[in-house]
Amino acid sequence: DKGLEKSKESIFGKISKAIIGKSKVDDEVLDDLEEILITSDVGVDTTIKIIERIESRVARDKYTNVTELDKILREEVAALLSENNSENISDFEVPQNKKPYVILVVGVNGVGKTTTIGKLSAQFKKRGKKVILGAADTFRAAAVDQLILWGERVGVPVISHGMNTDPASVAFDAAKQGVEQDADVVIIDTAGRLHNKVNLMNELTKIKRVIQKFIPEAPHEVLLVLDGSTGQNAAIQAREFTKATDVSSLAITKLDGTAKGGVVIGISDEFKIPVKYIGVGEQVDDLQVFNKVEFVDSLFK
Ligand code: GDP
Repeated sequence: DKGLEKSKESIFGKISKAIIGKSKVDDEVLDDLEEILITSDVGVDTTIKIIERIESRVARDKYTNVTELDKILREEVAALLSENNSENISDFEVPQNKKPYVILVVGVNGVGKTTTIGKLSAQFKKRGKKVILGAADTFRAAAVDQLILWGERVGVPVISHGMNTDPASVAFDAAKQGVEQDADVVIIDTAGRLHNKVNLMNELTKIKRVIQKFIPEAPHEVLLVLDGSTGQNAAIQAREFTKATDVSSLAITKLDGTAKGGVVIGISDEFKIPVKYIGVGEQVDDLQVFNKVEFVDSLFK
């Protein structure tokens, strides 16, 4: 699993170093662990929560061998992830009874939104789903072009009106086409501007409203894409977007290029929104459905 390799080396490697020459889990070991988790971008609040849970276990046991630290930490992280990812999906799938299933994709520029949409389209298409994309990120010349390129690459149609056109009008057409062409999935790319929260909120509200003209219960999913390599910046973006709209799932990208996979733990804990996908590279197959067991394994094996 090339993608998560670096994250694994990181937390595990640091813990191994911290416990050299120690026999029991004492305050010093816990202090080191706290620092490791924070520098691995788990986030301060989540780190404190994890440390407290471990502390109370250690206090109960009186003597906890350092060799057990990995196991205990793993259990606590797994428990934390489970609380927020109870409905972990096992494959790229969309509910059969919601057709077309509409996914609104949000996130700031550069996080990997377009790439994630392309990869996701490829996976759905591979599974026999009819996919239509809407290029509603009309504020950047490159965004529309890139989505069209991805559409060509994976063989799915892209609804586009070009740059600087009304994003809601693109979303309107994508939803309309989705219904008329009996598509299984409609994925709509939106502009990732955060500098003006009111604008962002208004725009997303408008997009939702026009989609609902064709598909009353849509969007079925609002997928927020975050760049895992930006550490705490990803958490800040999550805070802003969840304030602007109802985010229902997360995709965390670029976990191949970072030693900071810990950000997934903190974000999952803070926002209680399931992490659905992780990006582990730039190629079409470099998207995985998030599997908490595999993820924890990869961090602490
Ligand atoms: P957008 O502006 O959010 O649409 O971002 P793009 O999809 O254009 O991606 C920005 C850059 O990040 C591109 O060079 C992508 O190839 C790259 N990228 C996207 N996802 C991943 C990932 O999971 N891993 C790596 N290493 N690069 C990624």
